[in-house]
Amino acid sequence: MFADDYLEEPYWWSAAPLPAADENTQPVSLGGRADVVIVGGGITGLVAALHLARSGCDVAVLDAQRIGEGAARRNAGFVGRTLKRSVEWLAAKSGRDHAVRVYRELDTALRGVEAFVERERIDCHYQTCGRFIAANSKAHFQALIGELEQTRQAVGFDYSVVEKQDVRTEIASDRYHGGAVIPDLGSIHPGLYHAGLVSKVLEAGVRLHPITNVMGIDRNASGKTVRTSRGDIAARHVVVATNGYTSRDLKWLARRVIPFRGFVIATELLPPETIDKVMPRRRTYLDTRMNIDFIRPAPDSSRILFGGMTGTASPTATPLAGTLRDRLVRILPDLEGVRLSRAWTGHCAGTFDFMPHIGVKDGVNFALGYNFAGIPLGTHFGEKLAARILQRGDMTSAFDVEKFPTAPFFNGSPWFVPLAMRYFDWHDDRIARG
Ligand SMILES: Cc1cc2nc3c(=O)[nH]c(=O)nc-3n(C[C@H](O)[C@H](O)[C@H](O)COP(=O)(O)OP(=O)(O)OC[C@H]3O[C@@H](n4cnc5c(N)ncnc54)[C@H](O)[C@@H]3O)c2cc1C
Repeated sequence: MFADDYLEEPYWWSAAPLPAADENTQPVSLGGRADVVIVGGGITGLVAALHLARSGCDVAVLDAQRIGEGAARRNAGFVGRTLKRSVEWLAAKSGRDHAVRVYRELDTALRGVEAFVERERIDCHYQTCGRFIAANSKAHFQALIGELEQTRQAVGFDYSVVEKQDVRTEIASDRYHGGAVIPDLGSIHPGLYHAGLVSKVLEAGVRLHPITNVMGIDRNASGKTVRTSRGDIAARHVVVATNGYTSRDLKWLARRVIPFRGFVIATELLPPETIDKVMPRRRTYLDTRMNIDFIRPAPDSSRILFGGMTGTASPTATPLAGTLRDRLVRILPDLEGVRLSRAWTGHCAGTFDFMPHIGVKDGVNFALGYNFAGIPLGTHFGEKLAARILQRGDMTSAFDVEKFPTAPFFNGSPWFVPLAMRYFDWHDDRIARG
């Protein structure tokens, strides 16, 4: 099952290895002060740092791990307008104006990534490849098209219907009951994207402090003191951008962010004819279940990446690799016998209202809870966080709402996630049965 080069490590790290802890980074003891301290060196933290440093701020980014060791270089590289709540659901809950603003902002975030990588000349294989959403049953197909049509009417997002008999024009699978193509969604090499961000922030003079765990943020008359495993650092402003890795030291946020694991495998090198056969249009692919399976070609189309079994309580990916491979082969039988070169896992962040959040708590700016949409929203919120600190540009966001819910007794331990995933499976099956 495993190829000779198998490693439990993100596929992306081959092209974008993590910087060593002492490379381009600051000495052990922090001391001193910064205008802005950013907790978390993922996409959100680095985009915020870049904008702030270019506006003349002295910025320090602190990360408990190596820079990029979080989800930023572990994700699947789908760039979309992902949201677990439909426009109609949101309209019923918080009004049509708010629902439309949320969806328009998702679109701004999607377009923002493409514009940003182009402007910054970050070579990270951004492609507007389109996405095929495959319906797991006839009822799922009807629900999918109904939802896409409602969204089109509300905010104008384009899509095209793929009937069951035409699924093989998109993907070599007989499992699906039709689907839809959303033509303007993209894909990226997340490792190269984040590595590009690291070069940009270093050029802009940002100080990176890896292996520096933030244990608390105290407010005082002159600003804030950030307490870390390497000493204290004073700051006028603090940003928390820790998403699925939010540690329990950051108590208020840890009580609101539900960390759960995502798992991805990468196949061995495949002949171009195989890729041509199984995904002729080289899009990104996912299905209509809440607990999705997701597939994409590597940016150079040399192999296939597959993710699923999200929320399983396994700290490593290798024990799940065989099951993931079997699932992939059930979807794409032409891959029978395929071996794996990589398997990896990383933390995503859910929230109790299934919505990402940006806001301020006790004078500390935060943006997190991306529910699988952190590439576009992390980029977008990074820019917003900088605008808020600089007090210029567009500081507003439809995701900045008063309520950021938690649940009684929840302290950041996601013990219930596997149960919740089983509930979602049951719910999906119920819809599938009509
Ligand atoms: C397997 C997988 C697949 C995914 N696929 C996609 C996808 O296809 N498309 C998409 O848009 N999103 C996807 N995501 C989600 C996406 O990767 C994240 O939403 C995104 O990386 C945003 O998070 P971030 O960059 O803000 O934070 P991260 O990159 O997660 O970084 C947060 C950092 O905060 C640090 N930190 C936490 N607590 C502390 C502390 N107390 N002190 C110091 N540092 C701290 C951590 O060490 C970590 O490095 C996926 C995630 C996973 C795991």
